[in-house]
Amino acid sequence: MSKTNSLFIRGEENTAYSQYFSGKSYLAMLAGNPDCPVSNVTFEPGCRNNWHTHQGGQILLCLSGRGWYQEEGKPARELHPGDVVDIPADVKHWHGAAKDSWFEHIAIAVRPDKGICTWMEPVSDEQYNALEKE
Ligand code: MN
Repeated sequence: MSKTNSLFIRGEENTAYSQYFSGKSYLAMLAGNPDCPVSNVTFEPGCRNNWHTHQGGQILLCLSGRGWYQEEGKPARELHPGDVVDIPADVKHWHGAAKDSWFEHIAIAVRPDKGICTWMEPVSDEQYNALEKE
């Protein structure tokens, strides 16, 4: 299984935030402008982040592989290259790879001056494993 075929750099293993992820991820800061930081996040198969909120919102641009996005109380949305996810401020959600695929997305922080992220509980294996059966 090829990891990714992105145009963008994958970066180093994301150890700084590993406590908020189930599985291994990689993070590359593509543009460090503090008013509009843009990063590339790559998830290994089965990897997803914890439930969280962004005080200003977040935009995801899906690049390669297959993944999932879910807002609390809603069905999960399957993600493919070219998909865009416009995440409103303060909406609890998670994103990550499918069980059998790497997944890569650009993450753009919206209004980072309001705050970047509040991390919450992990997505349980029970919740995650049920996705492919929906
Ligand atoms: Mn997010």
